[in-house]
Amino acid sequence: MRPGRGLGVGLGLVILFSLFAAPVGYGPNSPALYDIMLVVAFNLPQTQSTGNPTAIGQAYAFLASFGILFMVGVLGVFPLVTGILGITATSVLTLMFGVAGNGQVDLAGLGPVFYMLWPASVALVAASFWRGKAPPPPPPAPIHPAATTIINPAMTVVRCPSCGTQNPSHEVFCGNCGQKLKTDV
Ligand SMILES: [Zn+2]
Repeated sequence: MRPGRGLGVGLGLVILFSLFAAPVGYGPNSPALYDIMLVVAFNLPQTQSTGNPTAIGQAYAFLASFGILFMVGVLGVFPLVTGILGITATSVLTLMFGVAGNGQVDLAGLGPVFYMLWPASVALVAASFWRGKAPPPPPPAPIHPAATTIINPAMTVVRCPSCGTQNPSHEVFCGNCGQKLKTDV
């Protein structure tokens, strides 16, 4: 396994812990995102019955972001995709909890959970580029002796006793002067 994948699994666990245990806001009884998710899900039918598009949109955006972050936490082994999803969902939640209704930034509404989700999501993307040391290139294939040494009887030569021309050893008569090359053949 690439080290980036291993780190991705660890970061996924950080995100899961953040969702279920890290508080939103700084109050003594600040809920975790999981606690808020239960309330939002439980109240979803009532929210829809109000017909308020803003409230309905916020409820679905919150549930979708929570669901995406849960998937990101489980699937940290694929750090690039999950990291991008994590950043996206964390951005939505940051806007929901960090910007008051009048558009003012309200950092008190954020809390520790966001200081875990943001670094973990960004680190997931970074982990996807951590591939570790490249494997060494394969050693060059040994060159077979036959590839360099041409073993071919026809290439051996015999010198003509008369004129000195080198003839292939399978020839019986000299190609130059016609002298018989091997007296014993
Ligand atoms: Zn000859």
